[in-house]
Amino acid sequence: MVLPILTYPNEILRKPTKPVTFPLSKEIQKLSKDMIDTVRNADGIGLAAPQVGKSVKVIVINLEKNGVPLMALYNPKVVSRGFKKVDIEEGCLSIPKVFGLVKRPKKVVIEAQNAEGEKVRFSDDGWIARVAQHEIDHIDGILIIDLIKKYTQGEEIVSEWKKHKI
Ligand SMILES: [Zn+2]
Repeated sequence: MVLPILTYPNEILRKPTKPVTFPLSKEIQKLSKDMIDTVRNADGIGLAAPQVGKSVKVIVINLEKNGVPLMALYNPKVVSRGFKKVDIEEGCLSIPKVFGLVKRPKKVVIEAQNAEGEKVRFSDDGWIARVAQHEIDHIDGILIIDLIKKYTQGEEIVSEWKKHKI
């Protein structure tokens, strides 16, 4: 089922999230399936639970077009960051029409759990690393508008929010 995607300044996007426990509840299993439907439907490359109104630590990464199997990760965190940082243009399904350069470590090590609760640990220095960092930021309440130094689109929208302290 495709869920509505919340957009900024919806306050749920800033709320702390709860860890997921195992075995997964029916509710979380359903949420993961719905998040996969939703990210595919939106043609997005990633989605985090707060974006569909749930304050839990669940993310999905949809890089099937790059040959990466679709991933649902539970309780994900960045456990190690490479020294080298790169500026890449990012957007966000929750902040339509806003794009800008975000500086992030190129290489990271991610730890998470899979649907069975098993520990998953991997390192990446490409798109998975980039999307995972963006989605993990979401479960920590951090948005690209906190990180963008140079906008490529929609700067006036963000200035308007900042002017009104949203
Ligand atoms: Zn986002």
